[in-house]
Amino acid sequence: MKRRTAIKHIGLGVSAGLALPWLSSCKENDPGPEIQYDGVVGIIGAGAAGLLAADILLAKGVKVKIFEASDQLGGRVRSLRRNDLQSESLVVFPTALPYSDFPLELGADRVIGSDSRWAEIIELMKVPLVDFRSASADSFFIDDAVLSEVDALLDADFLNAKNFRDSFASFSGGAGLSVLQAAQAAGVATRMNDIINSWLGNAYGSSANRIGAQALAEALAQVTHDGKEFTSSTNPLQDVLLSRYVRAVPTVQYNTKIQSVNYGGEKVEITHSGGTDTVDKVIVTVPVSILKSGDISFSPALPSAKVSALSRIGMDASMRVILEFKRNFYGEATAALFGGTQGPDYLNNAIGRSELNRTLSVTINGEKAEQLSALSANEIVLQLLSEMDAVFDGKATENIRRDTVDNSLVYTLKDWTKDPLIKGGVSYPLPGGTNSDRTDLGAPVGDKLFFAGEATDDTGEFGTVSGALKSGERAAYEVIDAILAP
Ligand SMILES: Cc1cc2nc3c(=O)[nH]c(=O)nc-3n(C[C@H](O)[C@H](O)[C@H](O)COP(=O)(O)OP(=O)(O)OC[C@H]3O[C@@H](n4cnc5c(N)ncnc54)[C@H](O)[C@@H]3O)c2cc1C
Repeated sequence: MKRRTAIKHIGLGVSAGLALPWLSSCKENDPGPEIQYDGVVGIIGAGAAGLLAADILLAKGVKVKIFEASDQLGGRVRSLRRNDLQSESLVVFPTALPYSDFPLELGADRVIGSDSRWAEIIELMKVPLVDFRSASADSFFIDDAVLSEVDALLDADFLNAKNFRDSFASFSGGAGLSVLQAAQAAGVATRMNDIINSWLGNAYGSSANRIGAQALAEALAQVTHDGKEFTSSTNPLQDVLLSRYVRAVPTVQYNTKIQSVNYGGEKVEITHSGGTDTVDKVIVTVPVSILKSGDISFSPALPSAKVSALSRIGMDASMRVILEFKRNFYGEATAALFGGTQGPDYLNNAIGRSELNRTLSVTINGEKAEQLSALSANEIVLQLLSEMDAVFDGKATENIRRDTVDNSLVYTLKDWTKDPLIKGGVSYPLPGGTNSDRTDLGAPVGDKLFFAGEATDDTGEFGTVSGALKSGERAAYEVIDAILAP
């Protein structure tokens, strides 16, 4: 792709306040470009992991070629654009543009951890963030009502569930248990199942009855950031990511879906729809769903430790539904509504960013997303409205945005499961898995084949942008070590 086209692709100029950064990803005390290497490192996937890996290698003077199957950069960091086209996985209404006065995110929308890797980058870019949790509080669907956290805490079952969640990182009750089974074994009342699902199922990429308790607890025990959550007040997160890694943009070959990687010879042969490329080393950063489904074949076959690790890491259905209302009936200061059966997580992401404050961003993962994905987009929205109507006296249906011509519902829906290059939401540990599965998944194979991507993060940040970035950094330095090895 020509450079001018590439710059068009990254949407520069859309966001106010973004400094054009020829910043370096190198560590503070590293010297400048110093590696003498004639080879080329191929990177498969231009999400957060691939972009950071490329940036580090380029900063070191190593040639890079990124192969990206889609026509976009950013992967699961994806902001809604005015010119986004309807597809099987994205339902938008081009004639009824979102009226929200802040950027809408189809994938990652929360910056998790004020001292996390993603937050560090955002701070470096001088992008303003909203600390929406400190200004607001969560509400909960409990027994056909919606309660504020203060009221919910008067319920002994809720308090018990919250204590279970708050101490979950120290759980050690058996590798084969799901999170839900672990909650029940700890005496959490079954009427709190949907709340547990919101906190410890949906939040980690699936459902509480599918996620392995032991591996999730092991992972959470590794987390070192402060866990604070932010949204970006004015900048689409995709622009932030791409502006930060703009150095890597000219190296991207778009619409190049890799089908096979042969790393058995002196060079690595990569086959794709457009032919074959030869590189010297390769970093694979595609979602774990792509690896699990065999969309990319490896020759020689991947080592058994990696195949075994893959069998214990899942990736389930996932969707984002953005609902806009004529007025806010769910609470101007409500940060999120948790505990829904249809929608486990209704984020009021207008807080601190919008004059209107009438938009909810619903994230649905796991079993529920799988069920909803079988319905039409309109039916999915009706299910969510009906759940809200039950606790808000019909106000959801009354206030949902509608087309002025035919009164039909207007919404945005991204079903990541139907995106053939992602096939789900984020990785999660299956019962019986351990956190070291991620170490095995990310381990290099010899000195030519390397792995990154959120699923390979073993520092407790899988399923996040920070986890993806950290994995890209790790893989880039593994490549550098391999290049410099005597
Ligand atoms: C609905 C949703 C909500 C989320 N919310 C948050 C959040 O609030 N906060 C947070 O931190 N994280 C969140 N995440 C997770 C975060 O978005 C991801 O962890 C992160 O973006 C993953 O980056 P990655 O580089 O590992 O993979 P990706 O971003 O998936 O990049 C991989 C790239 O590989 C490409 N690819 C696939 N197959 C091929 C092939 N055969 N050949 C070439 N290229 C290929 C894909 O097109 C993609 O661009 C969310 C994710 C989803 C889906």
